[in-house]
Amino acid sequence: TLYTFVNQDTCIACGACGANAPDIFNYNEMGVAYNLLDNNQGTLNIPKALHDDLEDAYEGCPTESIKLSKIPFNSRYINS
Ligand code: SF4
Repeated sequence: TLYTFVNQDTCIACGACGANAPDIFNYNEMGVAYNLLDNNQGTLNIPKALHDDLEDAYEGCPTESIKLSKIPFNSRYINS
């Protein structure tokens, strides 16, 4: 399993993630990225077919704003 969301406080709207993973990342009106699959909640398991794209986006983000986890991010918050 793999979950992702964008830390929009550090995203600089460079556009790289949407180029690498157009089925996962889109941009708001400010150009700031978000996970379009779950409205940037980090709660939807990313389909395996998109994992290579996600890895490319993760590695290509210049500000390390793309967060990855093997468990849903909301569960992490609930458990902490
Ligand atoms: Fe933002 Fe990183 Fe995507 Fe660039 S690659 S738009 S900094 S999340």
